[in-house]
Amino acid sequence: MNKMKTALITGGSRGIGRAISVKLAEDGFHILINFKTNEIEAEKTMNLIKEKGGTCEFLKFDVSNVNEIEKSLEDWMDNNPDNYIEVLVNNAGIRKDNLQVFMQNDEWNDVINTNLNSFFYITRRLLKDMLVNKSGRIINIVSLSGIKGMPGQTNYSAAKAGVIGATKALAQEVAKKKVTVNAVAPGFIKTDMTAELNEKELKRMIPMQRFGNPEEVAELVSFIASEKSSYITGEVISINGGIL
Ligand code: NAP
Repeated sequence: MNKMKTALITGGSRGIGRAISVKLAEDGFHILINFKTNEIEAEKTMNLIKEKGGTCEFLKFDVSNVNEIEKSLEDWMDNNPDNYIEVLVNNAGIRKDNLQVFMQNDEWNDVINTNLNSFFYITRRLLKDMLVNKSGRIINIVSLSGIKGMPGQTNYSAAKAGVIGATKALAQEVAKKKVTVNAVAPGFIKTDMTAELNEKELKRMIPMQRFGNPEEVAELVSFIASEKSSYITGEVISINGGIL
């Protein structure tokens, strides 16, 4: 187990994070499944990984809470002194949509804390070991909203655009230590997050005329997490069925 490479997937219990967790486990990573509350869904992810012969454990913390993050990561590090987290997928995210004119402080702050500040707190802590070991992959799940902006999502678009900027800046800081930092920008993917959207209506604006599946996003993340992507850093890779 000490020799296994370890990957932390925030929000690994459901949706895109679950598909990434299962795929990276198939790729041979030991998976740390992070989630906030929904233990039942986290257990489903754990079972899927174990059915495929993979290994995993829970690392439960609220990605918007710096104290919880640091305590949880310190505990894991203390218990695993010969190992380090080589792949970090910053995937956990929420949306609290509202038109800016009606948006409440908590709708703004919750989305910024969960989708942007989490990137800073978690990545900062894990970066040190990646730099010392001269190997690491930081993969940030952003969004089409952070590239083009979506009405009703100034909070979400700002958070995702913030992560895109940080991805490009951090990539240049750590490139010479063989740590890559990239962002994956999905369009519309079938998960709980998009369950209440009008798919019939929205798919007309997608050249491929359909929503994507979490597994399709996971394939891209698998490539970025692998050795095969060693010369790609600071990129934002869209996966959205052809929306430009
Ligand atoms: P989802 O189905 O709603 O799942 C969200 C995941 O994040 C769950 O595992 C959830 O755990 C976890 N999470 C939420 N808040 C958390 C917190 N404070 N601390 C720890 N974990 C937390 O969402 P998804 O559609 O898979 O989205 C995953 C990522 O892709 C997000 O960053 C999202 O913005 C991005 N994205 C999604 C789409 C899309 O169309 N679905 C498009 C573009 C980008 P609990 O169940 O415990 O809360």
